[in-house]
Amino acid sequence: MSKRLTQKVDSEVMIRINRRLILQLIRQKHSISRADLVKLTGLAAPTVSRIVDRLVNDEQLVRYGRMGDSSGGRPPVILEFNSKGRHVLGIDLGATLIRGVLADLDAEIEMEVQLPTHTHEGYEAVVDMVVLVVERLLSKRGLDPKTVIGLGIGVAGLLDKAKQTVKFSSGFEWSEKQLKADLEARIKIPLFLENSTRLMALGEKAFGKGHELRNFVVANVGYGIAAGIVVEGQLVHGGGGYAGEFGHMTVDPASEVICLCGRKGCLEALASGRSIGLAARQNAEAARSISTECHVKVDRIDAKIVFEAFQKGNPFAEQICLNAIKWLSMGVANLIHLLDPTHVFIGGGLSLSGEYFWKPLNNEIRKRVLLPNREVEILPAEFKEYATVVGSLAMVLDAILGLEIG
Ligand SMILES: [Zn+2]
Repeated sequence: MSKRLTQKVDSEVMIRINRRLILQLIRQKHSISRADLVKLTGLAAPTVSRIVDRLVNDEQLVRYGRMGDSSGGRPPVILEFNSKGRHVLGIDLGATLIRGVLADLDAEIEMEVQLPTHTHEGYEAVVDMVVLVVERLLSKRGLDPKTVIGLGIGVAGLLDKAKQTVKFSSGFEWSEKQLKADLEARIKIPLFLENSTRLMALGEKAFGKGHELRNFVVANVGYGIAAGIVVEGQLVHGGGGYAGEFGHMTVDPASEVICLCGRKGCLEALASGRSIGLAARQNAEAARSISTECHVKVDRIDAKIVFEAFQKGNPFAEQICLNAIKWLSMGVANLIHLLDPTHVFIGGGLSLSGEYFWKPLNNEIRKRVLLPNREVEILPAEFKEYATVVGSLAMVLDAILGLEIG
């Protein structure tokens, strides 16, 4: 590389670093003067001015706020993060539902679109549906599509982070899908893919209680089971980007129940929403009883219905739910022993089942941990069914604006 070219690259890198620093400060402080930016960054005043002008006029990420307090001379102009100036799209691509949102740069949701996922229609049909969700969000009245800076998508499955492909997804029955490339061919917005559970942890860290925490886990207990892990303030990806697949940890070697991954004894095969529905439907007596109790056809019995029957006092439902909770508590206790988190957040469909889920789960976990008196807080994931989309927004903000919120 020639010397001149090296210098040019160096100065571009410096501009990017300084821009990131200034934008972060403006966002953190909510409002700040140019003079304070100069003081806090140690950069020269003309450098700060040049970057601020660009952030205000070209990128519209910063705006002028109220005039600051004057100490005699001209009152300083206050700069504010312009969260409403640009938009972000987030999608939770789940095996039962696609949830898409349009949000501002503070992740405040302005519009939402939901579609049931027709996984049985195949991969192409699911791609079509994601495109449709994006088109609907972009057609929001009064929205200038040029203000949309990026799209984050959370996918339930193993993702190759480097290639941005879906390596394997049991829920969708996909393997080796070029999802990013296939979507980019049709959606002209910078887009980013990540595992949906890891995004739940990212969302919790960026915008939830996890903001103040250094070590926590978000367990996603829905159709499948997985965990997003934060250790010493860092989201854990693992060597191949697959960290947190604790749903496929063997908890019962004697089990004959086959998991979607093809193995036996996995936690997911014994404690997921899918397994609860299946256990109820496959036991003829239980299915009949729950079907009558909750006024639904046998083939419509899912985990939500089984928990409803449990609440109504149905003994079959009680046994199925408590059995699943027992296995789940083993998985969570294992995570606690392995990682020593201060908090475990539990999200996903089952976490919405109320005290009939939470009370026995808490009791079972306490029974199984080495230090029952050590305060590990077990809490519902803050954003409930929005956990993945909030994380997908955080991912885009981090990737495009360099806000380092993740
Ligand atoms: Zn498995």
